[in-house]
Amino acid sequence: MGIVFYVNDWLTAAAGVGLLRVLENVKNSVPIEGNRIDVPEDVFERLADYYAEYLLKDITVEKLKDIIEKERQKKKESTINVYNTLVLSKLKSFYSNSPLANPSSASKAQEVQIEISQDTEKLYKDAKQAIANFIKKQFDTIRSYKTSDKTCFFCGERKAYIKNKEVKVFDATNFTPLSASPKTVENFFYNGRSNQYLCPECEIFLYFSIFGFLPTGNKKYTFVYMPDLKKTYDMNTILKGEKGISTKYLKMLFTEYLKELEGRKIEWTLKNIYIVEIELVGNAKANIHSFSIPPKVAIVLNERIDSYPKFLESVLGFFLDYIYSERSLYEFLLKLLSGFFHKNTYTKVNVQTLEKVGAGLKSTAGLIYFVKFQESLNNDGKNLDEPIEKVYKEGKSLGKSYDKEKLNAISLNLFEAVRMRNVDLFYQTLIRAYIDIDKEIPKVLIHGLTEEGFNWTAYSFLIGLGAVTDEGRGTS
Ligand SMILES: [Zn+2]
Repeated sequence: MGIVFYVNDWLTAAAGVGLLRVLENVKNSVPIEGNRIDVPEDVFERLADYYAEYLLKDITVEKLKDIIEKERQKKKESTINVYNTLVLSKLKSFYSNSPLANPSSASKAQEVQIEISQDTEKLYKDAKQAIANFIKKQFDTIRSYKTSDKTCFFCGERKAYIKNKEVKVFDATNFTPLSASPKTVENFFYNGRSNQYLCPECEIFLYFSIFGFLPTGNKKYTFVYMPDLKKTYDMNTILKGEKGISTKYLKMLFTEYLKELEGRKIEWTLKNIYIVEIELVGNAKANIHSFSIPPKVAIVLNERIDSYPKFLESVLGFFLDYIYSERSLYEFLLKLLSGFFHKNTYTKVNVQTLEKVGAGLKSTAGLIYFVKFQESLNNDGKNLDEPIEKVYKEGKSLGKSYDKEKLNAISLNLFEAVRMRNVDLFYQTLIRAYIDIDKEIPKVLIHGLTEEGFNWTAYSFLIGLGAVTDEGRGTS
């Protein structure tokens, strides 16, 4: 009988994935069954070595030599603290002030001071061993405390330990991004439960969560959670290969998701996929965005992710944000169009906003995708692609009947009407525009006069107008 861990949420899933990665790195593995990981006693005893091995995975012998040389020149000493130099900064963001990332205890520890040798192979070996020894000492210390009579919140089997006369509970040191204070952790993560007692083994387990997250640049880390550890592991391995969330990745994710969803009740939504993104914003400060995906959204995404406009890959994150939080894509479009129709206002903005992206567009042509997407969501998967396409074409055709200047004026008026959701103004402008070219207002535009029809009709038309480029003028 080994040491058992359970995966019940994205944090423990990240720890599970991290543990599996660390073991895989040393060609070891442990039995998993559903959400249960069974670590044999002898493997558990060697975890500190494996942990050190994984921490140094990206540091080659050559790189280590460079780092130590720099450090030697700075400090002018014959020994070096390899823990502080090589791994502390990595662990600090996730486990600030924990036994593994407490700068003062690592500074005082003799075992991490190693003699600087000219033999780099030896240096590497010594460094790894020193780091492993330090981690082992921390793990052993955690396991040496007296146990309390409180059952661990995470495994529900072992007992929490007592440190400084207090029963150990899950706190900010065990996963710093969640919060800097235990109080907010309670509210934020485990829904206000105050009895998150933590046993030594589960604490050690949680120190592996860092390896589950994929660094995606700009101090951001991403993890994808599905309610099955094996699938979670696989999907995060794919995520690693893809180097982050992309449309291709989402397609794979939703295919898996829908397989899971088949034959299950909709309440299952409560336990569905999460995409967790951690953004470190300072010392022991982080933003966590976790998106769960409502089934309705997943179904539409699965159908449509392939045709997501390539030229808007840069705003994929914004797009996902909108659909996960179930905000209307018309708000999203309004920002892009606002930038497009008022280019001068936004081109000088420094930060990447939707308006700025809109201002950089040559044509609005691809934006019709988002109207179709939103209407599929609004209509439970039934699509309105055909009428949307028709309205879009009418917009384009009207746009071609006017010269650039006049088209601009009409577009701005219509955009203003859309922004204010002023149906009357929208139609007055339209009627005038058609009278001027001696045409009747196309029948398909009648949909816009209804409460449900205004958005898709107005936006499709406007996007049609914006799709008329100088090159495109005169072609049909
Ligand atoms: Zn436990």
